[in-house]
Amino acid sequence: MIRVAVPLPIREGLVYLWAGPGPAPTPGCRVQVPVGRRSHVGVVIEHLATSPVRLDKLKHATTALDAEPVIGADLLETLVWCASYYHHPIGEVVSAALPALLRRGRAAAPAPEISWRLTPAGRDVDTNALARRARRQAALLERLAASDSAAEPDLREAGFARAQLVKLEEKGWLESEETVPAARERVAVFEPESAPALTADQRDVLEAIAAVAPGYHAFVLHGVTGSGKTEVYMRLIAEQIRARRQSLLLVPEISLTPQLVSRLEQRFGADLAVMHSALTDSERLDAWQRCRSADAGLIVGTRSAVFAPLATPGIIIVDEEHDISYKQAEGFRYSARDLAVFRAQHLSIPVVLGSATPSLESIHNAEQGRYERLRLPRRIGAAGSPAVRVIDLNHHAVRNGISTPMLGAIDQHLESGNQVMLFLNRRGFAPVLFCSECGIAEECERCDSRMTIHSASGRLRCHHCGAERALKWACASCGNERIAVGAGTQRVSEELRALYPNVGIGRLDRDATSRRGSLENVLADLEAGKTQILVGTQMLAKGHDFPNVTLVGVLNADQGLFGTDFRSNERLVQTIVQVSGRAGRADRPGEVLIQSHFPAHPLFDCLLDQDYARFAELALAERRASDWPPFSHLIVWRANAVQRAAAFDYLRRLAAAARALGTEIDVHGPAPASMERRSGRFRAQMLLQCARRGPLHAAVDELLLKTRNWPEARKVRWAVDVDPAEL
Ligand code: ADP
Ligand code: ZN
Repeated sequence: MIRVAVPLPIREGLVYLWAGPGPAPTPGCRVQVPVGRRSHVGVVIEHLATSPVRLDKLKHATTALDAEPVIGADLLETLVWCASYYHHPIGEVVSAALPALLRRGRAAAPAPEISWRLTPAGRDVDTNALARRARRQAALLERLAASDSAAEPDLREAGFARAQLVKLEEKGWLESEETVPAARERVAVFEPESAPALTADQRDVLEAIAAVAPGYHAFVLHGVTGSGKTEVYMRLIAEQIRARRQSLLLVPEISLTPQLVSRLEQRFGADLAVMHSALTDSERLDAWQRCRSADAGLIVGTRSAVFAPLATPGIIIVDEEHDISYKQAEGFRYSARDLAVFRAQHLSIPVVLGSATPSLESIHNAEQGRYERLRLPRRIGAAGSPAVRVIDLNHHAVRNGISTPMLGAIDQHLESGNQVMLFLNRRGFAPVLFCSECGIAEECERCDSRMTIHSASGRLRCHHCGAERALKWACASCGNERIAVGAGTQRVSEELRALYPNVGIGRLDRDATSRRGSLENVLADLEAGKTQILVGTQMLAKGHDFPNVTLVGVLNADQGLFGTDFRSNERLVQTIVQVSGRAGRADRPGEVLIQSHFPAHPLFDCLLDQDYARFAELALAERRASDWPPFSHLIVWRANAVQRAAAFDYLRRLAAAARALGTEIDVHGPAPASMERRSGRFRAQMLLQCARRGPLHAAVDELLLKTRNWPEARKVRWAVDVDPAEL
């Protein structure tokens, strides 16, 4: 018997009989299995000696799809662990690790290459005579006569269709041969002269990493923006390539950082394989194959690349490890950052978590001695840290989002021939369409949120559910002309265009970069100096490196100051420090101006000094005092339903059951989610908190068993979120 992970929400997978031919496929191989009336591609998890159900109830797995496992033993163990840790069905966990084409049953090995050559009969054909009847056929024979054989893709490129090839094969003039593509000729790609000489700080970091014994070791690389972290990564990777081992580099979002990929390409060329969600299915499979066959020495990828099939693992690096995009927000809610550490441990290799603003969890782990903390405290070049000031919005006029002192600073920096970035965490024209007569703002019908004005398209849009309607300035109930309150990136750019008609103004947000290639254009215009002021959302915070940007303005810091989530301060500081890091690279000093109505807020003390380490220390002390992670562990049980009562009935019963377990676990709630109604569904949650992980997970297992057949559970969509990134 075999236990098989099927791509369905079935917690432990399903058990099947194997009747051959041959022995049962080894764990990690794919099999075709019947479920109900349908047939699915599943993955064998383990062989079983005894069946959990009566033998005559078991069905047969029909076909083995692989001779070799598509999921190696180490990865399979990791996935099984994930299913239990995240309390998620094994089939969906396994699916996360396989490219779509493999989930659909495509062969796992690269397709063989077909080449064609003439048969003796083909060589005897009089091509001149043939050309009078069939010009293309003659051309094909002549082409093949010129060489021993030709690869089919080359022939197709030359305009010969497969049908023509097959036709001449039937005539006995051609024959084909299949070859498995030869492994790429490995060249020593790393040329030290293409890399800068290391700074003393970088050397210290590399030496500290090299000094530890082989095997698992976790490092937190805390390096300010522009301190040369990426260069350190590249040296580590080069070291691994020289030793013929693979490196896995995880990044938050590849599309946002074209500069990084091109730097890696320049340094590592054909050794690089890229894995991210914008690839086509076959590109994804190709990257997966190159990883599995060790053809790629460096795999760069987003979240799901943490499941890459490393053939010769050497090191795992997580760039911007604090980034929230490493946590999957729905379905299988794993944290790629945490799994990177788990995998490294499992593979006995080092892992490096790099960031200018490490997560409090990682800093805490370093303080506890579980990770080793390394520092790159200085920027490369003479720029030094930017000077930071707060503009008190209580004392200065603001027009369309920009205060008078901010305008003064923009003038100054433009006059010196430098560039400016303005950060505003809100896209669209304005967040509120308000009728002063009725005192009412236009709301989304399906969410607890207001409609954002998008003036360019003349539409109102809900940023939570995507609902759209036409923008009408006249109020529907009183006819009064309504007003746009607040400012988004569109409004700020329009204001700037009016103020600076001769200055290039760019915009970097999801609306401005939705078309393929538009993001690259926005960044290229800034690099070329066509754009002098770039207005953008947190997309600005990513690792772009523009030496002429000397002023960074944060137009609204207040949204994050009083957030309800225990992480909102951490997120705010991380974003502001990251955005500030764009100011003053190379040899020009930078300036950062932050607009706020609350300049006395204690967070600004740390921000003014750009002292993230001190912020982390204070924030961790606060977390300790209030028992939040990393000083406790959290699991959120979420539920949503069209009827508010249904979500609450389910969670209330669940909370009662959780409390009845009588363990050391604190049960909070149920309570409404931070935006209660979204896309027409009411959302609520219950929070389980415990100082130790063990009892917490045991409780969830027990609750899952208990709730399985509750009628209340059938009326809601529910999910268990382990180590939630947001409450
Ligand atoms: P980070 O990843 O910490 O933001 P980078 O590695 O991107 O920093 O380095 C910032 C800039 O400094 C880049 O332009 C990079 O090419 C350059 N750089 C990095 N290391 C060195 C070095 N040792 N000498 C000179 N320039 C360097
Ligand atoms: Zn909505």
